Order: sequence, then C-alpha cells, then structure tokens
Amino acid sequence: MEIVILDGYVDEPAGLGVPPYVDVYPRYIAGAVWSVEAGANITYFTVDQVRSNLDLFMKTASRADVVVFIAGVVVPGKYLGGEPIKVEELLLWSKLLERPIKILGGPVARFGIGEEGGKIATPPSTFKEYFDLVATGDVEMVVYHLIKEKLRVEYIDPSIRRKSYSEISNFAIKGAKIVLQHPNYGFNLIAEIETFRGCPRRIVGGCSFCIEPQYGRVTFRSISDIVKEVEALYNMGVRHFRLGRQPDFYIYMSKQANEEEFPKPNPSAIKKLLEGIRSVAPRLETLHIDNVNPGTIFHHKEEAIEITKILLQYHTPGDVAAMGIESADPKVIKLNGLKVMPEEAFEAIKIINAYGSKRGWNGLPELLPGINFVTGLIGENAETYRLNFIFLKKILNEGLMVRRINIRQVLPLPNTRMWLIGDRLVRKNKKYFKRFKDRVRKEIDLPMLKKVVPKGTILRSLYTETYEGKNTLARQSGSYPLLTYIPDLLPLKIKLDVVVVDHGYRSVTGVPYPLNVNKASRRLLSQVPFLSRKDVEKIIVKRPFVNLDEVALIISNKKALQYLSV
Ligand code: SF4
Repeated sequence: MEIVILDGYVDEPAGLGVPPYVDVYPRYIAGAVWSVEAGANITYFTVDQVRSNLDLFMKTASRADVVVFIAGVVVPGKYLGGEPIKVEELLLWSKLLERPIKILGGPVARFGIGEEGGKIATPPSTFKEYFDLVATGDVEMVVYHLIKEKLRVEYIDPSIRRKSYSEISNFAIKGAKIVLQHPNYGFNLIAEIETFRGCPRRIVGGCSFCIEPQYGRVTFRSISDIVKEVEALYNMGVRHFRLGRQPDFYIYMSKQANEEEFPKPNPSAIKKLLEGIRSVAPRLETLHIDNVNPGTIFHHKEEAIEITKILLQYHTPGDVAAMGIESADPKVIKLNGLKVMPEEAFEAIKIINAYGSKRGWNGLPELLPGINFVTGLIGENAETYRLNFIFLKKILNEGLMVRRINIRQVLPLPNTRMWLIGDRLVRKNKKYFKRFKDRVRKEIDLPMLKKVVPKGTILRSLYTETYEGKNTLARQSGSYPLLTYIPDLLPLKIKLDVVVVDHGYRSVTGVPYPLNVNKASRRLLSQVPFLSRKDVEKIIVKRPFVNLDEVALIISNKKALQYLSV
C-alpha cells in the first residue's frame, strides 16, 4: 500500500506545525496507517518541498492509494521556516490527482483556513467537491478506518472522532518514524507534543474568537502515553520537544477541569510528566511549553508557583509561557468572555517573572511570559488601544520582562461568536491597530528586548536557517525563538553561539562567538564589542595569528579579546 502525506502546515491556538515544528497530524496519521498495514510505504512531503519539485510530488502521489492533505492556519503569523499551503494550492493539487483517494485533514477540515488575520476564513464546505473525505472529525481516525475497510470510502464517516486518547496510543508511537523524512530532521526539528484538548472555559462559553471549546469536554492524555511517545521520537533522533498542544499547560491533569472555569492545577502530575520525559530523553536539547492561562495563575497562585518551580527544574531555558490576554479593555473583556481583567493578567506576569527571569545556560531567561493581543473584537474602539498600550507600558515601567508581544487581528472562524461579527471592527479600527502596533514596536518591544538580552549576552546553540540580503538568519530551537541577524553569509544548517551586539524591535544582531580573527570577514570583525575600526584594520593586515596574545599586542581595548579566538 502506498500512502502520501502532504503537510501543508498548521497553526492553531494550541498547536504549531510550521518547520522547524512537526505537529501531531503527520505522526498520528502515519501511525494509524502502520497500525493496520505495517508494511505500507508512506512518503511525506512538506508543502515547501512540493513547491520546489511539483513533478516529483505529482509522480509519487498519482501512484499512491491514498493522499492525505494536512492544512489549517487558524492563527496566521509570519513564518521563517516555511510557508503554509494556500487555498488555491490545495484545490489545484487535489484536482490534478485523479487516481488516489484524497483526504483533507487538520483544522482546515474542521474549522476552515485563514491566510491573514482580519480576513474571513475560508470555510470547510469549500473543499467538499475536491476531496473524497473532508475529515471534520479526527483525521487519523478517518485514515485508520479507511485502511481497515480496505479503502472503501463509502464505509467511512469523516466526522469520526477518537473516543479517548487510548485509541491513538499506538499511532503516536508507531508514527514517530515519519520524522525521519522531515527536511529539518537531524538539525533543528522540534516535535509538538499533545497533553490534552478542550478548554475548561467552555462551561462559561469560552472566548468569542476561539475554536478550542469546540473540542468539547477536557480530556487528558495519560502521562505514560506522552512519555512513551517522547521516548519513541527520541529513539528516532529527535532532540527538541515542546509541550504545546493544550490551551493551558498549568492545568494538565487537573481534577476540576470539567467543573470549574479556572480549575485547580495538579503540580504532582506535572512533576511526574516532566520527570518521565527527562528519564526517557536524557540528552534532549529543548524541552519547552506553550500556552498558559493567566487566569489559572491568578486564581491559584500557590499551585502556579509550585508548577513554575518544577518547570525550572526539568525544562530548558528560553522557555515561554504564552498568555492569551487579548485585551486590556474591561468592556471588551466582558463582551468577548475573555479570561482575565488587566490587573489579574499583570499579577500573573509578575509571578512568572519572580521565578523565571533568571538567566539560563543558553543566554536567555529561564521562563518568561509571552503576551497575545487580539484586535477587532466585539466592543473595541480607540479607547481599547489606549488601554492596551497603558497596560504594556506598566509592565515595562515596573521592570518586568516579557519574551514577546504578539498583536494579531482576529480571524473570524465558523461556529465562533466572532463569525457573526466578521471583520467589521477590524476594518473600522484599522488606523488604531496600525498606530498601536507601531508604538508597541518602538516604545515597548525595543526597550524590552534590550532588557531580555542586553548587549554582550552570549546566546548558545543557534541554528543558521536562511539568508536575508547579506545576513544569515539564525535561531535557537524552542518556543518563540528569538531571531538573530548575523551580518555575513555563513553556511546554512550549522549550529553556533553568538554574542548580541545590537537590537531591532523584534530581533537582535549577533556575531559568532568566539569569532575567529584569522577567518572572519571585515564586516563581522567590525561588529565585535570593544574593537575599534583601527583595530580591525590592524587585524586584517597582520593575520594570521598563532594565539590571542599576538592579537592583544595590536588592539587598543583588551576587553575585545573575550569575544575572539584564533
Ligand atoms: S481560555 Fe479562551 S482563548 Fe483560551 S482556550 Fe479557552 S476559549 Fe480559547
């Protein structure tokens, strides 16, 4: 049996699958196939690979029995590692394939697909005539039943969902092998790991724009299932992990998850989970989290502090507790059913800072909050933007740190309250949005970044990913990695350390650390702290050097030596 998986990338409130991330969908789908047909041949393509060699994809896919398309950007952003599939590509490529059974899965099939915040999403119904099955349920279950039913499409219910996590225990383990085909494998590939789904705030209606409550009751994945999957991925060579598939990491295994809007966290379960992961993946390089509800921290301070301390013990530094604050305007918060008032959010930010702001081995603070704002929500007006800015200014003025501030325009999705409002307010308040974003970049982001990574900070283990002009772009692996511009064209796909020499609004400039004076370009040398222009000229004329003592003899400020090597 021949199966093709086309990964068009996903980005959901709880889950990311744009490289270097590999999300759960391709892994679970591959596992579902191999659970029934152990000998099945599965070929994995990313959408970027298809774009660069459409012929190869068409040849492979037209010979296949089944082609599964994965797609769905629900919270659009800008991506360095890849470009998510476009609606036209989905429709065209599916149309070109006549022989195989075509399945569409991922958030696109369930909620629709958005290409830009502030625009209405394309609803799932658009795709019905182009695919044999549009998996409005769980795509791995649809694939599993299709293979079991010997590819008889008419026997398959595309809305089938897993009844419990135990149904996919095997899929997750067996499917780990698919990572071997990922273009980022062996480099900076990071596996998104699922811990639970569903939002406890479903019982009060959830937030006006969010799809998570549509998953129904909160269901947790067992500690042993998660640990076994991490073990399988680790044994395949994966070294970077993010526990990102959940709306609020701090309530994993909470006993009140389906009873309370803000259920009490369960620190001992989180400890067991992290301990388990570390024991099966002792030499992992990244272990990060995503998504923390600031309301959980505010309402359960004691447990939240305990969890933060546990995290610091087991995770890797540079971690981000991304908090969906969405708005600092009390009126908007009430009208959209958002989770926290500004004072409550502020308290949560303070708590994470109190324990997480210490700098870790890779140069970044251990754990910082990330803040998400959503604009275009019900009740928003000019005052909302003023309040949002005051809120951010207060964080800065009080000496607190946040790793990143994400401001996005709402993407109205079917079956959310915002679907009825559409993009009306986005269009109406466009000028406020633009002004707010510009002000935040200049007056908040820049001074904040200078605090998070001051000049002279050594950042460890960055991966060179791509070029922009005459610069190499590099990032560490992990949650919301900081973009570093290196002012030279270095080889791609290498790992290196840098020293921070300058700041942009959302990125830094870095020079390889230590910088080899015998090989470095003039451009790089001239960025080294404490090295004057004259020193650079002298170095270029006099090199090669045998040791740094020789360099010390010709430069004016010896402090520069700490950043150099021969
Ligand atoms: S708290 Fe709101 S934004 Fe977060 S998952 Fe629940 S509904 Fe979505």
